[in-house]
Amino acid sequence: MRTIGLIGGMSWESTAEYYRLLNELTRERLGGLHSARCVVYSVDFAEIERLQVQGRWTEAGEILAAAARSLEAAGADMLLICTNTMHKVADQVRAATAVPLIHLADATADAVRAAGLKRVGLLGTAFTMEQDFYRGRLEQCGLDVLVPDAAGRALVHRVIYEELCLGEVRDASRAAYQDVIARLVGAGAEGVVLGCTEIELLIGAEDSPVPVFPTARLHAEAAVRIALGDVTP
Ligand code: GLU
Repeated sequence: MRTIGLIGGMSWESTAEYYRLLNELTRERLGGLHSARCVVYSVDFAEIERLQVQGRWTEAGEILAAAARSLEAAGADMLLICTNTMHKVADQVRAATAVPLIHLADATADAVRAAGLKRVGLLGTAFTMEQDFYRGRLEQCGLDVLVPDAAGRALVHRVIYEELCLGEVRDASRAAYQDVIARLVGAGAEGVVLGCTEIELLIGAEDSPVPVFPTARLHAEAAVRIALGDVTP
């Protein structure tokens, strides 16, 4: 079994989910007492969030690159950045080690295509919805990407940082997200990418009229397939 290296803590609420998913998926595949071989490097999210707000992405990337080097030294055979947003610095992290990086947008696009869909709505932080590093990667994989209007993006972003990253899951926010999803579906979305690793703590398949793509789960599934030798990174 290959060792999965997680760059986590962004936030730890979703990294805990990654840890649970990796172990559950490995046990489902191998049975008995099997669990995932993995190493977690968990950062202080307050430090990262401050750098995001200030636009100091290279410095944030240095923190993640140092984490990647630690994971390489600890024996990781692959690296996962456990947040969609911080894929903005994916190239910086990739350049820091010789260990393959499993890109979250690729794992997501593979799942959307496997479902036979092309046009998806994208929910995530403002960085993820408004900048090109993530949307562009999905589009390069052949998808059409729709994002909410400005008010919808502000709502989705606020709930991530002020609630979900603090472990608060509120019914009112679920209903507000459902309105945003309904508008995306009205605009032609055939599926919705939950492009922030905390959103799947709030929204499940039952909350959407079209298929949802939970990115932490899809990322964990891709990692387990590689760890168990189904595919090479
Ligand atoms: N976990 C989130 C994501 O997937 C947001 C936290 C962050 O800014 O990294 O984008």
